[in-house]
Amino acid sequence: MNTALIINSIFAVQKAILANEANIESLDRAIGDGDHFINVRRGCEVTAELAKDLKDELPAQVFHKIGMKLLSTIGGASGPLISSFFMAMGKALEGVTEPSRAQFAIAFGAGVDAIKSRGKADLGEKTMLDVLIPAARLLQNFAHEPIELEKLCKLLKEDAHANMLFTKDMIATKGRAHFLGERALGHIDPGSKTCEVAIGAVCDLLTA
Ligand code: ADP
Ligand code: MG
Repeated sequence: MNTALIINSIFAVQKAILANEANIESLDRAIGDGDHFINVRRGCEVTAELAKDLKDELPAQVFHKIGMKLLSTIGGASGPLISSFFMAMGKALEGVTEPSRAQFAIAFGAGVDAIKSRGKADLGEKTMLDVLIPAARLLQNFAHEPIELEKLCKLLKEDAHANMLFTKDMIATKGRAHFLGERALGHIDPGSKTCEVAIGAVCDLLTA
């Protein structure tokens, strides 16, 4: 992972999010307030715009600047949470030019931990963390294994897809959906769908 790849990943995520508009929108309309897609689309727009000027920065600065930008531009619960993910990634990669798979796994884990502490949430609460925590664990588990990138990406995508679907049968204990109690059952959490789409987009880019 170097800066060029991070910037290409940003464009790939934006494209994938836009392609999943109908799906993501309808999920937050069902169990939230319907603004999740708008928040994420805006986040992608400002990040993509910013990315054009970050070509000469180290990965740490790229992530840090994205985090700062997202904090000041996206609303909702998801804005500050996703912002904290990027800020923590940046902090973990301080001074590293080309993060190795192991360094990336540590940084991703730090990003997910930042979301956990900011949102005071954990696994099984019907949030984006139900996709992100397992993804961080998977990356960590394979950080020092000689597994091919194609295989690792396939595992990540399958895992994210399954975990996104699992949120359907969860009762929310965090976020707006928790006001619905059992009425949220049968609906996928919008944030977990967004994260599945983003992880899929980066994996597809890495293995193209
Ligand atoms: P809002 O809920 O303020 O309208 P969004 O619609 O943009 O914000 O984002 C909703 C998503 O944010 C949810 O689907 C869920 O995945 C995630 N989320 C909400 N609260 C938390 C939390 N405390 N921790 C982690 N993720 C959360
Ligand atoms: Mg919402």
